[in-house]
Amino acid sequence: MTSPVAPAEAGLEMYELIRELYPICRSITGDGVRETLRWVSKHIPLVVHEVPTGTPVFDWTVPREWNIRNAYVMGPKGDRIIDFKQSNLHVLNYSVPVKQKVSLAELKEHLFSVPEHPDWIPYRTSYYKENWGFCVTQRQLEALEDGLYGVCIDSTLENGHLTYGEYYLSGETANEVLITCHVCHPSLANDNLSGIAVVTFLAKQLSVSNPRHSYRFLFIPGTIGSITWLARNDANIHRIKHGLTVACVGDEGKFTYKRSRKRDSEIDRVVSHVLQHSGKEYEILDFTPYGYDERQFCSPGFNLPVGCFMRTPHGRYPEYHTSADNLAFVHPASLEESLATAKAIIEVLEGNRIYMNQNPKCEPQLGKRGLYRSTGGPDAAQDELAILWVLNLSDGDHSLLNIAERSGLAFQVVQRAAHALAEQHLLLERAP
Ligand code: ZN
Repeated sequence: MTSPVAPAEAGLEMYELIRELYPICRSITGDGVRETLRWVSKHIPLVVHEVPTGTPVFDWTVPREWNIRNAYVMGPKGDRIIDFKQSNLHVLNYSVPVKQKVSLAELKEHLFSVPEHPDWIPYRTSYYKENWGFCVTQRQLEALEDGLYGVCIDSTLENGHLTYGEYYLSGETANEVLITCHVCHPSLANDNLSGIAVVTFLAKQLSVSNPRHSYRFLFIPGTIGSITWLARNDANIHRIKHGLTVACVGDEGKFTYKRSRKRDSEIDRVVSHVLQHSGKEYEILDFTPYGYDERQFCSPGFNLPVGCFMRTPHGRYPEYHTSADNLAFVHPASLEESLATAKAIIEVLEGNRIYMNQNPKCEPQLGKRGLYRSTGGPDAAQDELAILWVLNLSDGDHSLLNIAERSGLAFQVVQRAAHALAEQHLLLERAP
């Protein structure tokens, strides 16, 4: 697979994209999503879909569109004490418009803070229940004095659209790999923006290769976005053979993979294999019906082989869903490693095939074909072992991944052996 940019540059470029997207106030609908997709479109040819408010999508309905221009709270002395312009996290996401005077007691019913981290602003939403509110630091909350406060949320919640982006990369076959990320969080760097950056660059780099699978990249608002996409694409779901949701991939934590509901689908085994041979610490989690959009892709009516690729999972780092998930929390080197690992996963998916041994009665004589002790070097013994494994298990039932798993060898070593044997006509790819 060729890459248009060197990996070291990719880490910095992904970080730059995150820096550009960070100030935008996103939500599950509205102009923040559109602006985000415009930035992504500078890298890949995204098709932007607009689905009208009120469209039924399975048991749900596309909600009214939310947009916000400004929001603030004026203190009793007339000074602006909470200001959306300083951080878009200050407003409860999807707050209905409000402009009124309230007592301190009434104001406090609409304030959210994180007491254990007194300088952080929490990220809170109220998508499906009409409400208004402000998110503040614990210090801001504690400094509030008795008196009359002026609250203003200059937002609109009106009929409009739900917006999502889609990029379809056509491969040799119609078998699809689905790769998705969510685009609905405001200024949060790891949860949301890191996934957008890694998926964008994965798509960009794959677009200059000639993949065997077709790839579908989705940039969708969480939950309602995947439900909407699934409802509109129900007829073609059978094409999806593998999938990943990508989230929280810019922090310094180890890789975490959450298996699909099927638990041992090819994507589950491929990710496990790649992480196992990465030489790094990692964790595999079993499927749970909680998390990101894999919840919808893995609902029983679809049961798609879609797992979730992360570093530190949601809820397992204190910065999660607070203002501390900021530009200092994500790192170019982590983004780069996440991209490289995602590419390694795709390389295995692309290269996994089933071959037939053309000389199955006893071992073929490898020496006369230059396949035995022909090369020295540290890899020679491993390569020979891989040749024996591939010959032995290429009976039409075992894929190269099966052989890698059973032999304990890395997929690339097994693949190299298969290519060498195929060149000598000792192996033939099984017709699909
Ligand atoms: Zn989140």
